[in-house]
Amino acid sequence: FFKAFATMVKAITVHELGGPEVLKWEDVEVGEPGEGEILVKHKAIGVNFIDVYYRKGVYKAEKLPFIPGREAVGVVTAVGQGLTGRKVGDLVAYAGNPMGSYAEEQILPANQVVPFPSTLDPILGAAVMLKGMTVQYLLRSCFKVEPGHTILVHAAAGGVGSLLCQWGEALGATVIGTVSNEEKAAQAAEDGCHHPIIYTQENFVERVKEITKGQGVHVVYDSVGKDTFQGSLECLASRGYMVSFGQSSGMVDPVPMSVLAPKSLFLTRPSLMHYTTTRDELLRCAGEVFTAVANGVLKVRVTKTYPLSEAAKAHADLEARKTTGSIVLIPDN
Ligand code: NDP
Repeated sequence: FFKAFATMVKAITVHELGGPEVLKWEDVEVGEPGEGEILVKHKAIGVNFIDVYYRKGVYKAEKLPFIPGREAVGVVTAVGQGLTGRKVGDLVAYAGNPMGSYAEEQILPANQVVPFPSTLDPILGAAVMLKGMTVQYLLRSCFKVEPGHTILVHAAAGGVGSLLCQWGEALGATVIGTVSNEEKAAQAAEDGCHHPIIYTQENFVERVKEITKGQGVHVVYDSVGKDTFQGSLECLASRGYMVSFGQSSGMVDPVPMSVLAPKSLFLTRPSLMHYTTTRDELLRCAGEVFTAVANGVLKVRVTKTYPLSEAAKAHADLEARKTTGSIVLIPDN
């Protein structure tokens, strides 16, 4: 089917960079899907810290204004001329690329979406696509976690962190996690974190030394960045892997090579898009996440949903560390 007319839909837009208040709810025009494209009507939209980075300008959007958001589950409502392999009515999901999911409908390159299993709830899908695929590549490719490894996860009750704990434990690792309060510690423990550390009450570097009997951990998954980077290096065993994959507390300061030398450490700053570059990689990564959800390895926690029009509230809660697990936006119509 080819959609003949551009339609107006509601979306969240960013005209100027700043706090949650810059997220505006307004009408935007959606064009027709071109060659290789599809139009998707969203059922549920994932909220991720990366959306905050773009809103604030920590990561640069190509232009202003822009529609934030990089993850959703929805139904195909129109396909570009000549496109095969996708049809109106298909349930699909996407995460990572392109930006613009905070809208009732979005045009997408067909090769960026994956078929979404009809047996899964779209809200769970929107909660787990980006975070689950991130966890899949972090644990299976970036550093391959094996039984017997000890791993350190920061923000262990967060969206990505809770899934890292669950999947890491299922792989046979001993999981140590840092969180800011007792409620989050209890949640991390429920998710398979063997040793939650409340970093506001205890020095996490000292605790990791105690727990590992001075050995250190094989890998640190650090999404907090500025506040934790140095301590994370101190927690690593000899030849350990420092996986710095985010900066919720701010950008990490420049790092001299010499910090790696005392323990022959490895350091990487990975991104999901570089681990899902080919169509095969994308399908394999998403497929493993859907399987992990279906067989109970990942128990996705959607702790709160917000109407899409209230995205600013969702951002404010995420930045204030008020959220645990995943939060999801639901289009109003
Ligand atoms: P989270 O649910 O983890 O939310 C952020 C958490 O970080 C907070 O709840 C808080 O937990 C902790 N935190 C520590 N310091 C701060 C601070 N100064 N401000 C705010 N939060 C802070 O978010 P997501 O699951 O959406 O994302 C987690 C991280 O993973 C982000 O940094 C994101 O950019 C990164 N990421 C990276 C990807 C990649 O491929 N490189 C892909 C996907 C996500 P607590 O209260 O316990 O301290």
